[in-house]
Amino acid sequence: MGTVAVQGLCKSFGKVQALDGVTLDVPDGAFFVVLGPSGAGKTTTLRAIAGLDRLDAGTVHLDGRDATTDAPAARDLAMVFQNYALYPRHTVYENIASPLRARRRPSGEISAAVERMSDLLHIGRLLNRRPAQLSGGEMQRVALARALVRSPRAFLMDEPLTNLDLKLRVEMRTELTRIHRSLGATFVYVTNDQVEALSMADQVAVLKEGKVQQVGTPTEVYERPANQWVAGFVGSPPISLLPCHAEGDRLVGAAGWTLPRPRWAAAQDGRPLLLGLRAEDLSVERRASATLPGELYGLEPLGDRTVVDVRVGAQILKVKSRPTITGTPGEQVLVAVDLDRAHLFDAGTGLSLSEAGR
Ligand code: ATP
Repeated sequence: MGTVAVQGLCKSFGKVQALDGVTLDVPDGAFFVVLGPSGAGKTTTLRAIAGLDRLDAGTVHLDGRDATTDAPAARDLAMVFQNYALYPRHTVYENIASPLRARRRPSGEISAAVERMSDLLHIGRLLNRRPAQLSGGEMQRVALARALVRSPRAFLMDEPLTNLDLKLRVEMRTELTRIHRSLGATFVYVTNDQVEALSMADQVAVLKEGKVQQVGTPTEVYERPANQWVAGFVGSPPISLLPCHAEGDRLVGAAGWTLPRPRWAAAQDGRPLLLGLRAEDLSVERRASATLPGELYGLEPLGDRTVVDVRVGAQILKVKSRPTITGTPGEQVLVAVDLDRAHLFDAGTGLSLSEAGR
């Protein structure tokens, strides 16, 4: 078993409220990602679960038992940090074996566990080397193997891929998902990288300024963001947000455009709104039923696609387009909108108005 449940966690450092009522329920065997920008309280949340800091308020339950006042060692959790200090004078084998040696496990068990981990992380051929003879990516794998060699109640991982270059990060994302599946263990993983979160998690909790904004599957968080902030934080390029209001059967933009009012847009006429449009739900078109007139502002070729920036009033819309698209800045264009996939937020509270009505 490896369930982790935290309720109402509060923690201040002087005037900084790092955690402000954080409640999370991590099911047994989940790959649970806590996603948020720098300073959101991610590391503080992990440290609270591990019992490394005294909390101002809140409880931590592990496997259904109140562990709020348990010492860190009594919680049976393994923590993996971005900074993976290996013992420099020990071989890879000894580094991986060290947590089991510290627990005085029999040598047969240790060699079987090291072999299993090194197979899983594809580092079997490195077992006799010392850390100085490894690349950064290999060191990261060894550090992960050392953390994963035990079978604790759950693994707490604090941005363990941060020090890797982009190619290795992408590779390790796939590896970690595979390792998680084969271990069947609970992972609580914190990151500020939304791609990491969306690609690896079963469930994502989005954190901002010590408050949970939304918990859901990656698809739910991306497709049905609970508020404007989550919509803006998750997704690349970022969602475009256009000020507007409803007027009868139309949405009317502050820039003067109008669009048919989607049937799910249950907002009061005249109330200030933000229409959220993701780049992939827009296209530069000559003719379409729902369009926004704009001016081509710039093209950003990205290899497999080009992001076209279109100015609509004072806003820049990001439009994901085929890589062969051409155009000249200043040119008048129409942007077709897939309104069934659009989002609507209350401009005052930021809360989503689209989900209830769909
Ligand atoms: P990052 O992605 O940059 O690691 P984070 O989401 O993990 O950020 P935390 O490290 O949990 O954020 O910090 C949350 C807030 O608490 C920040 O404003 C941080 O400056 C503050 N904080 C964290 N630890 C301490 C500390 N020991 N003393 C003072 N302030 C702290």
